[in-house]
Amino acid sequence: MISIRPVYKYDCDVLIIGGGPAGSSLAYYLAKEGISVIIVEAYKFPRDKTCGDAVSRVALTELQALGITDLKEFSEANIVNDVALFVEDEKVSVGLAKPENHLLQGRVIPRLQLDNWIYKAAKKMGAAYLEDARLSSYTVHKEYVLAEIKERNGANHIRAKMIVGADGSNSTVARILHGIKPDEAYQLLGLRAYFEGVNGPDDRCDIFFSKENFPGLFWFFPTGKGTANVGSAMIASTLPQNETHVKELLLQQIQKNKNLAQRIGDGKIRGKISGWPLTFQSPTHQVVNERLALIGDAAGLINPLSGDGIQYALLSGRWASETIIECCRKNNFSIAALTAYKKKLHKEMAYDMAVSNLLIKVTRNRTFTPLWMEVLLIVFERAKSDAEYASIIAGIFDGTLPSYKALNPSFILKSILQGGVHIGVNTTSGILQGPKHWEQKTKDTGLLLKNIIQNIKQNPREQVKWLTGIARTGLEVSGHILKEMKTRER
Ligand SMILES: Cc1cc2nc3c(=O)[nH]c(=O)nc-3n(C[C@H](O)[C@H](O)[C@H](O)COP(=O)(O)OP(=O)(O)OC[C@H]3O[C@@H](n4cnc5c(N)ncnc54)[C@H](O)[C@@H]3O)c2cc1C
Repeated sequence: MISIRPVYKYDCDVLIIGGGPAGSSLAYYLAKEGISVIIVEAYKFPRDKTCGDAVSRVALTELQALGITDLKEFSEANIVNDVALFVEDEKVSVGLAKPENHLLQGRVIPRLQLDNWIYKAAKKMGAAYLEDARLSSYTVHKEYVLAEIKERNGANHIRAKMIVGADGSNSTVARILHGIKPDEAYQLLGLRAYFEGVNGPDDRCDIFFSKENFPGLFWFFPTGKGTANVGSAMIASTLPQNETHVKELLLQQIQKNKNLAQRIGDGKIRGKISGWPLTFQSPTHQVVNERLALIGDAAGLINPLSGDGIQYALLSGRWASETIIECCRKNNFSIAALTAYKKKLHKEMAYDMAVSNLLIKVTRNRTFTPLWMEVLLIVFERAKSDAEYASIIAGIFDGTLPSYKALNPSFILKSILQGGVHIGVNTTSGILQGPKHWEQKTKDTGLLLKNIIQNIKQNPREQVKWLTGIARTGLEVSGHILKEMKTRER
């Protein structure tokens, strides 16, 4: 019997939803190979995106490959030479190592500009953009994917060989794939405001930790000429649910934080405060399926420690392109063929993400916040006198270094030794301050322990859930460490 395969007319080979750094970088590489691409983007470029605007060296290397660092406007983007970390009133300032290639020195670039540059580069390479248009649904068939797109003048359909979800942390493509919204346990809420007329220096990024918003953080990233991007990232479930309250919280926290308030000085907010969730990878997150892949934030590729995602968006766009180019050549868009991309992601990022997730899980229990603040102080004390140690800390938070560096044996040893010094110094200075001080210290410690025990008693279920989560993520990290050790032995 002769079987006749229907011949479908495709509107493009690859349909990409979302024209942020992930979607546009993927489009650039596919178009470069002559693959026909349509990018559907909900807004018209140039469009803003709520972000801290910090662009790490890893991201800059990717931007260089796209030709962005050759642009005249890029040379005017604000350079960062120092990072200052604050824990309550303690401050550590770290000079960032200067790379040989000055184009790769960390920068703060408003997304209104940055994303527009990447969009233009992809367009120049031949990618077609459908702007002001939104994906509402899609269905995957044996030979094609059919997407319903809502435009101002009504709904249209696009038929493609495959679909890529590059539609950010509230991804419609991912929601339809998984059948559920992202788990709150894997989300942070980010808030951002632009200020003008702030205090210098213009080349120093500040990161602030305080009891009130721990394990979240605040940032002050200068955008040049007395302007700055100021914001916070917080665990979503510990926040008030109402958006207005969350914004009030940012303003209140800014006022409460002496160091941040000092940096802002007489500066005034320009525009509105915007908020956006950061969704990071859960271990069960599926990133490929038949004729489908997820990249960037849609795949949960956010570092939960630093909130950094631009570099992962660009990297995952390039990695996905390598697999998709092969799929197009072989006309094979099966889950098996697309798994090469998933494996690449796993090889490059899973360990780092698991460590970050573990640290966030350990610290998200507010019962223990005073303890974690003490741990941060210990770490920062060491950083003040050890430049290498300090640059590891700064690198983890500014997204230049993978967070597994925090599990490096020498780093851990130095931290433990510093813990001893910290306790020793406190004890000695405590003794010198006399019995009254000791009485107070004992009272403080007693109160902390009492509070912790009371909290555990009041909410045993929550505490067990927290411990189970840690155990699960801890096992994941151990798995990665064992794998790494085996690879080194070979
Ligand atoms: C407050 C905050 C601060 C941050 N600070 C930093 C930082 O300083 N440095 C850093 O590296 N990262 C930071 N991040 C993370 C970073 O913003 C993201 O990781 C990055 O934007 C991911 O790029 P993306 O292309 O995957 O997604 P996005 O940049 O979110 O792009 C997704 C695109 O998809 C479009 N879209 C969405 N839904 C649809 C639809 N249904 N149809 C069509 N189009 C759609 C959107 O309009 C958008 O243009 C921050 C995030 C937040 C929230």
